[in-house]
Amino acid sequence: MMPENCSVCNTALQGEFCHKCGQKHTGQQVTFPVLLSDFTANIVSLERSFVATLWLLLKNPAQVVQNYWLGNRLYYSSPAKMLFYALTVAALHIALVDNKILGLTFAADNLAPQVAFYSVLIPIMAFASSVAFYKQRRNFAMHIISVVYNVSSLIIVFLLLNDLIGLAFTANIGARAFLVYLIFFCIWNTRCQIKTTKIWTILGYSLLQIAVVAGIFGVGVAFTLLLRWVQNQ
Ligand SMILES: [Zn+2]
Repeated sequence: MMPENCSVCNTALQGEFCHKCGQKHTGQQVTFPVLLSDFTANIVSLERSFVATLWLLLKNPAQVVQNYWLGNRLYYSSPAKMLFYALTVAALHIALVDNKILGLTFAADNLAPQVAFYSVLIPIMAFASSVAFYKQRRNFAMHIISVVYNVSSLIIVFLLLNDLIGLAFTANIGARAFLVYLIFFCIWNTRCQIKTTKIWTILGYSLLQIAVVAGIFGVGVAFTLLLRWVQNQ
């Protein structure tokens, strides 16, 4: 029997899902078969929505990112969930293959290398994105969303490819892998930020983001050198 009102928010029900709080009312009694089917449905649907979101992020990232910007939730995996999967893949890579992420070594005192990797990468890329696309007048949080989605989906693919190529050819790909990853990220972020299919426009905006990143590293190096020079005086 279906109840008339939602058991969470007491809103009158018009169907299986409460239109106010989103709770699903099945009206089913808990039996062992129901328990089993709930359990498998939860596991299967979780995996399917992650794989489906990952696939769409690689094929058409703007669909997922702009849907989130518009305030729509729950259909695609959230950026936080994609980041969680990306961290898991990176942790597996570090545990099973080597302690470098795309040829880069991350050593931080109290942080796992993959956490250090994202803690550096996400703010820098979000800054580069907000500089390159300042005309679109999006707030910093929106850039973070696009960055987290694209950084996560691409790192999963890149780490898998990196390890497969490394295993197949025993090749030392080194930090070149990171450079290619950075270029791909900038292209994918551009595809989310502006509506264009013109390849030169996309490449132009991608180069602009890479230039901002290079600028940040340049300032960092210059600052370190200046600090050393001052200390030696
Ligand atoms: Zn409700």
